[in-house]
Amino acid sequence: MLPLPVGLETALPELRRRLPARARILAVSKGQPVEAIRRAVALGQRSFAESRLQEAIAKQEALADLGALDWHFIGRLQANKVRGVLRHFGTIHSLDSLELAERMARIAAEEGLAPAVLLQVKLRPDPAKGGLSAEELQQLWPRLVDLKPLRLVGLMTIAPLGLDAAARLELFRDCAALADGLGLPERSMGMSQDWPEAVTAGSTWLRLGGALFGLRSA
Ligand SMILES: *Cc1c(COP(=O)(O)O)cnc(C)c1O
Repeated sequence: MLPLPVGLETALPELRRRLPARARILAVSKGQPVEAIRRAVALGQRSFAESRLQEAIAKQEALADLGALDWHFIGRLQANKVRGVLRHFGTIHSLDSLELAERMARIAAEEGLAPAVLLQVKLRPDPAKGGLSAEELQQLWPRLVDLKPLRLVGLMTIAPLGLDAAARLELFRDCAALADGLGLPERSMGMSQDWPEAVTAGSTWLRLGGALFGLRSA
């Protein structure tokens, strides 16, 4: 796969040309100024991801004139931020425990919300990242599907640093197979360094920061 051209105005259209229809681009705007988001919106991008609640709220307020954008939360979830995350994001990619899921279901019901949720899974050892193992997910599944206001739509995974392309492809295929087995249509797989393998394995959401926007400040 050829490297992408540098610069949002060339990288985003080029990526769209190369991707199959099922692989949608989630523009990871964390650490980017609101002007970068405006430029992406001008190119037709509507789905954005943030990993910190306060940063996202400030940006959403600054961008209110653009109308409703599709905001996804990809950061580590903290129990005391669940209500804020639910109010400011329609899709959450990083739910990784039954306790948080139960809390999220209760608060979503209180708020009258039905968020789309992807469960974060960790299918290879990675001390730096959270996520349910395949065994934990299978074991918790009957209780998770009972948490009514949550719409469980998919799985999210992050490849550990240091895997080669073949090992990443195998990891993403395992994640896709796990999602298939549970009847979940969405697979949030692939970042700037590994999106080609994720596309091959059937990703439906590519979480791309640096590949689109260049280096970020945070
Ligand atoms: C920051 C982040 C991304 C984007 O990373 P890039 O390497 O800049 O594409 C994707 N997913 C998660 C969970 C992130 O935290």
